[in-house]
Amino acid sequence: MIVVMKPDATAAEIAEVIRRAEAMGARTQPIYGQDHTVIALVGDLTRVERAVFDAMAGVQRTVRIQEPYKLAARTTHPDKTVIQVGPVTLGGPEVVVMAGPCSVESRQQILETAHAVKEAGAHILRGGAFKPRTSPYSFQGLGEEGLRYLAEAREATGLPIITEVMTVETVPLVAEYADILQIGARNMQNYGLLQAVGKVNRPVMLKRGISGSIKELLMCAEYILSNGNMQVLVCERGIRTYETATRNTFDLNAVPVLQRATHLPVVADPSHGTGDRDLVIPMARAAVAAGADAIMVEVHPDPDSALSDGAQSLTPEQFAALMEQLRRVAAAVGRPMAGTGQRSPNGRAAAGARPVFQP
Ligand code: PEP
Ligand code: MN
Repeated sequence: MIVVMKPDATAAEIAEVIRRAEAMGARTQPIYGQDHTVIALVGDLTRVERAVFDAMAGVQRTVRIQEPYKLAARTTHPDKTVIQVGPVTLGGPEVVVMAGPCSVESRQQILETAHAVKEAGAHILRGGAFKPRTSPYSFQGLGEEGLRYLAEAREATGLPIITEVMTVETVPLVAEYADILQIGARNMQNYGLLQAVGKVNRPVMLKRGISGSIKELLMCAEYILSNGNMQVLVCERGIRTYETATRNTFDLNAVPVLQRATHLPVVADPSHGTGDRDLVIPMARAAVAAGADAIMVEVHPDPDSALSDGAQSLTPEQFAALMEQLRRVAAAVGRPMAGTGQRSPNGRAAAGARPVFQP
């Protein structure tokens, strides 16, 4: 159930709703929207009496939530969740682009890519330091060394960084460096990991599992939200179907379905969605047209020598051409493209940037 407070509800009225709900055995999660504060009641609701809340001062109405993902549901939170990462706003009207290599391979490679994607207008730098590989014999990532190079690339370009965290034990380490934590498709249902990232003060991008339904994706987001972290993004990255023409089947439907179902910002990753660089550009355009809040694209200075996902990585030139096209697609659907982040004098991402690692 959720309790929707009146726009002019006082802090004392909100606190009293929380107190009464908790006295009835519920756990509460207040969500502060632009116009309304809503209080989600989760957990054991057997002793919760809806009529009590309907009658309380400052309450506009109560709503019983049908969806099992109560905190992620758009019904709980009609305003979209807006996540500020340094100078970048995710979930607002502007289209955001995250770009970079699949893996951080060397200092030179990530710095070169970071400068190239920044130049072309990307807003966030991606790069994996801990890589979930199908084969244990494939390149597994540079680990903390890769995180250090990412931090250096952030210093050099002002671009916030997103990188994957694969294990509960490395959450504090990755959170020390990353502006956004990525949970990869293979870990979508790693509930212990979801709980762990639910307890850190960093936005989390949760990728859809290769055989995860949209409902399962949102239930996994619920694990993060219910642990107190309300800064969650969900990402469509292709699912496994009977189709073998592409690495995965990019489920473009998921973009508007998620926009309808949840208030969380929706990201689309046509690189993993297709596995084929020739298809990344048209599907990235399609994702923006379909209403994605952000897209994630893999870019490598020399894709043919990439240590992972070269076949789906764009060259910097292709990426620059894509950005040009995305600006036009965004304009055609009435959305601005986010500007490139202004750098603060010390070179870090400006406004709201958290302290970064100092080598
Ligand atoms: C990645 O982003 O490089 C990655 C491994 O993605 P996914 O988890 O979607 O396969
Ligand atoms: Mn990849």
